[in-house]
Amino acid sequence: MSKIRILPDALASQVAAGEVVERPAAVVRELVENSLDAGAGHITVEVRRGGSALIRVTDDGGGMDREDAMLCMERHATSKIRTKEDLAAVGTFGFRGEALPSIASVSRFRLATREREALAGTEIEINGGRLAAVKDHGGAHGTVIEVRSLFFNVPARRKFLRTEATEYAHVEQQFRLHAIAHPETAFTLIRDDEVAFHLPATRDLLERIRGLVGEDLASRLIEVEPVEHHGIRIEGHIGGPGLSRSNRQQQLTFLNGRPIESAIINYGLKEGYHTALMKGQHPVTFLFLRMPPETFDINVHPAKKEARFHDGYAVREAVARAVGRALESAGRLPGGHSTLSPRPQAFAPAQVQTALPLQTARVATGDAPRVVQAEPARPHMTSRMFTGPDANSAEKIIAPSPVVTTPEAPPPVPNPEAAVEKKARGVPAFRIIGVLHKLYILMESAEGLVLMDQHAAHERVNFEKMRRAMEQGGVPSQRLLMPLTLQLSPRDADVLARNLEPLSRLGIEAEPFGPNIFKIEALPSFVRADDPAAWLDRVIEELKSLSSRTSSLRLGEDMIATTVCRHSVKANDRLSLPEQQALLEDLFACEMPYCCPHGRPTLIQMSLGELERKFGRQAP
Ligand code: ADP
Ligand code: MG
Repeated sequence: MSKIRILPDALASQVAAGEVVERPAAVVRELVENSLDAGAGHITVEVRRGGSALIRVTDDGGGMDREDAMLCMERHATSKIRTKEDLAAVGTFGFRGEALPSIASVSRFRLATREREALAGTEIEINGGRLAAVKDHGGAHGTVIEVRSLFFNVPARRKFLRTEATEYAHVEQQFRLHAIAHPETAFTLIRDDEVAFHLPATRDLLERIRGLVGEDLASRLIEVEPVEHHGIRIEGHIGGPGLSRSNRQQQLTFLNGRPIESAIINYGLKEGYHTALMKGQHPVTFLFLRMPPETFDINVHPAKKEARFHDGYAVREAVARAVGRALESAGRLPGGHSTLSPRPQAFAPAQVQTALPLQTARVATGDAPRVVQAEPARPHMTSRMFTGPDANSAEKIIAPSPVVTTPEAPPPVPNPEAAVEKKARGVPAFRIIGVLHKLYILMESAEGLVLMDQHAAHERVNFEKMRRAMEQGGVPSQRLLMPLTLQLSPRDADVLARNLEPLSRLGIEAEPFGPNIFKIEALPSFVRADDPAAWLDRVIEELKSLSSRTSSLRLGEDMIATTVCRHSVKANDRLSLPEQQALLEDLFACEMPYCCPHGRPTLIQMSLGELERKFGRQAP
């Protein structure tokens, strides 16, 4: 067939494409949705160069006959007969019958499809909206759609694409969402000719999750048993306390089986986790909400799946309760998780989780700390409140991490060694007054009050020590009592694999031990990790986000060193007076004592003059 004709509405399609297909991941979303609608049992998503060179989605679904194949390229052609309920729940996702023509108008597009029983299938090629060829297709039943050179004819949009790594990350995220929402469908993701994921069909959601995120993370998830509250049914799997991420990539939520983004749900999660989650961190969730379609709208933007709930408060409360209950029943709560606030205004009051009551209570009453609690509910939680590992470990702060065994290993920071190598710079004559909130060391100086951020100071000291050690051939490491095996997601494994060499010079001894599995034998000697697996997890997570931000898989040594240092000290460790003194000395032995490796100040001074002004003793 040589006749070339412009499809009707080609221009309109290009315009629509701008809204619908903002990036490769959006194409993947559309094509995979179509494959699912076609009843596919196995869907393969393949991308090259982040999807800008090629996106290919292959399915073994019902396929189309020639007429339908031609028709589906026309705008507003859709074969999907929908019930009224479907329309309410599905139809609002946007463009009914617009996706394929829109995509075809901004790419080199090829559709090959064959119905199960048909003798021959159909292949259609469209270049930038122009029909280029229609021929017979002899391939397997099902449908293959190829989208090459996305936006080749819309330079303004092509320029808008980010780096390959970023676009791929979005594709992978999209893939993840579909794969979690449809465990009963097999999924394969191929990136630049390498299989990134191969997920067999299963009825077991957890098995699917395992396939996506690796055994190690999956084993740290806890189950949210199905609960119903205000007609909202919630179930799924979520990370236990202490498992968190610096971004929301693994915070997946679904509404009636479809991936959804909702600030209300996010609030509910935060509330449910309360102090089980570090500030600024995000939980790992695979959470499924089910509620009647008439109780929410999905819209806002065709490319975004945001929910508007008619009763947002009920949703938030239901999520918070489901999460809080799961965390509680998992019985793995660290001290401090107790105040699941029942009303929004009581939502995570900061003073409840800070250390002030803890310190006074422990000093005052020894082993039976008084409990300060925001609300009287959950009495069974109160006895644990301030007696978690955090509080207990306060007594043995100088002891090396329990996982570490080498007797001659140097003790963790503050490290007397450092004092030996100290430079000539004098330590200012500060008199230590005490510690505020287990974090700030208060000191008297000739000028007034000095505050040292214990955490930032440790980071600086460790960082410089590490850099010196690296210059001299490597950071001393401490063997783990038992080598750890880490099963990682392919992406995490990739990041780790590519940075093994600098990491080993930083004292992290890791080696490949199977597909996406690593054996960890030693950690840097100054790292104090109660849970080395969780510690490494956080480090890898940060390295991963750094590598996607810099779009380079191999990271600079300094970048890795600052990351390791950031995680090498724990906030809220109580230091004894000699340790405080040693830390101060170590800090002033540093080349850059006044800020941490991330640039935050380590010391703040408040002059007497300033204090006097504040107390009104002196005119401002
Ligand atoms: P919509 O999904 O809203 O119907 P699309 O433009 O995405 O609009 O698809 C148009 C039509 O093409 C679909 O209704 C369906 O009949 C057909 N179609 C698209 N992809 C496939 C596929 N992978 N397998 C079978 N039919 C498909
Ligand atoms: Mg569609």
